Amino acid sequence: MKCDPTLYRAAPPSLAVKPRLIRHLFLPPLVILLMIGLGFAGYRVSEHFAVRALAESGERQLELNARAVESEISKYTYLPSLLELESSVSTLLADPSPEHRETVNTYLEGLNRRSRSRAIYIMDTTGRVMATSNWRDFDSYLGEDLSFRAYFQNAVRGQPGRFYGIGSTSGEPGYYLAHGLEEQGKIIGVAVVKVRLETMEERWQRARLEAFVSDENGIIILSSDPARRLKAVRPLSEDTKERLARSLQYYWFPLNELQPLARERLAEGVEKLTFPANTELEAEDTQVSYLSQTRPLSDTPWNFTLLTPLQDLQRQAVNQGILVAVAFALVAFFLIAWNERRKVIATRLAAREALQEANNQLERRIAERTDNLRASNERLKAQIRERRLAEETLRRAQDELVQAGKLAAIGQMSTSIAHELNQPLAALRTLSGNTVRFLERGALDTASANLKTINELIDRMGRITASLRAFARRGDDQGQASLGKAVDAALQLLGTRIETLPLQVHRHFDDVQVRIDQTRLEQILVNLIGNALDAMQAQPLPQLWLEGEASPGKYRLRVRDNGHGIDAEARKHLFEPFFTTKPGEQGLGLGLTLSASLAAATGGQLGVEHPASGGTAFVLSLPAIGPTQNEPS
Ligand code: ADP
Repeated sequence: MKCDPTLYRAAPPSLAVKPRLIRHLFLPPLVILLMIGLGFAGYRVSEHFAVRALAESGERQLELNARAVESEISKYTYLPSLLELESSVSTLLADPSPEHRETVNTYLEGLNRRSRSRAIYIMDTTGRVMATSNWRDFDSYLGEDLSFRAYFQNAVRGQPGRFYGIGSTSGEPGYYLAHGLEEQGKIIGVAVVKVRLETMEERWQRARLEAFVSDENGIIILSSDPARRLKAVRPLSEDTKERLARSLQYYWFPLNELQPLARERLAEGVEKLTFPANTELEAEDTQVSYLSQTRPLSDTPWNFTLLTPLQDLQRQAVNQGILVAVAFALVAFFLIAWNERRKVIATRLAAREALQEANNQLERRIAERTDNLRASNERLKAQIRERRLAEETLRRAQDELVQAGKLAAIGQMSTSIAHELNQPLAALRTLSGNTVRFLERGALDTASANLKTINELIDRMGRITASLRAFARRGDDQGQASLGKAVDAALQLLGTRIETLPLQVHRHFDDVQVRIDQTRLEQILVNLIGNALDAMQAQPLPQLWLEGEASPGKYRLRVRDNGHGIDAEARKHLFEPFFTTKPGEQGLGLGLTLSASLAAATGGQLGVEHPASGGTAFVLSLPAIGPTQNEPS
């Protein structure tokens, strides 16, 4: 059973290996690159959305805290203007006598205590402090000329004076609110309230809020982180620096710029700022990023900035990025695995289909061949039937022929049979007559001898008829015969003819058992010996040789005579039915044909040899039964 090899032929190696090699070489770096890329994108997107969400919540925080700052500042807005209503103040400004000053000082002291401001003082239009709440203190402003202060300059011009600065006397930072005191439409002096805003810083610190307030110059005046205080949020020009230094607004502080490591503008008033880490607080990070949201404070030129740390958010974004990368890696892994599995399944399916196809082809071929075989089987069966029929017909014909041959032989022999029987009959007649006479004479001995002879004659006649009957009887192809007995029977049957000749019979064979019907063997031998006798009619010294020879499974008997032999033309037709060279009624030409048929029917054969010494030899070969006996007869 062979399958079609083309069904399993793989793709050419050059085509099958190359893409796989490329895939194996480039796929892992590609997956890693995509992993990194997507992880980074995930990080960025997560950060973007988180910053947006933070900005939104920060917006509220910003608003809330800015309002708090505004209310803290505006709390004192009206305090200086209230002093306009105080008559003792205008009196002092009109007449700066020690009594009036003391009155105002005391008044201001009480007012300052109640309002919890840092200091309240009154200046005349030249900028000299006329009365102050801290008149008892050693660093009291009393008598100081503060005309250089911007808040005074604004207030004396009738504008609201708002000023954050570091006190030139105390060196203490404060928020100054100045108001030009008017009397009958004329500025007679300036009232100033100094407020300390540090409470706000403390509040922020307590609330762990990172925030600062920058003034109109961009200088941080209030900050939850003291390190950022008095730093510039934007670069200051040299002129501005000089102007500010001259004004002593920030005392002698260097006003360095607050320089973030990175600054990224996200929206109006929203920035992402990265500062170097405060090593004490954030030991693990080298830098710290903030979302910076700035909003102007109303009634002041100041800005409030809220700083929201982005570490948690960034950590979260990093986690998200890692998650995205891992998710991608998993998806890629599953896709690759799925693809590989799909390919394996496809290959298996293809192989199964190929196998199925090969199987189908095989089955088709088997079916075709089975059909052919069935057809040829049918043909063979038909032929066998025909042959059996022919064989049957042949056997029947053969049987008929055998029977016909026998009858012919009987017919042929009838003259000699008649002669053979007439002779004893005549002898019987004479003997019986003589016996009667001998009995009458009382010659009983002679009569008894005659009767014995009569008996012998009758026995002989019985034997003749018995062998004729046996010869005429139908036999079968099977059976077992004794060669010795068959030869004896044949010689006996031909006895009358043999007696007429001075025949010498040479018997050199074993009395073996051969596979043939006894009668048929006798019939064959009668034919062969009869023919030999015919051929030796003219031979003065006729000799008959009966020579046996054993071969594996067979026994051969050669019946040789020294007769006239057979001429070349006759040799060709020897075994043809009705071929005879014998004149008149002597020959029917059936003997050899029948003998050969009988031998063949039992699995043996009959052949002819023409010895160089003359005469003819017929060789009868028959299947032997058992071991041959060495019994020369
Ligand atoms: P038939 O004896 O009736 O002629 P056979 O078939 O027995 O028929 O023999 C055919 C012929 O073969 C004989 O006519 C004879 O010419 C020849 N023949 C057979 N046996 C011998 C023999 N032993 N010697 C010479 N001729 C033979």
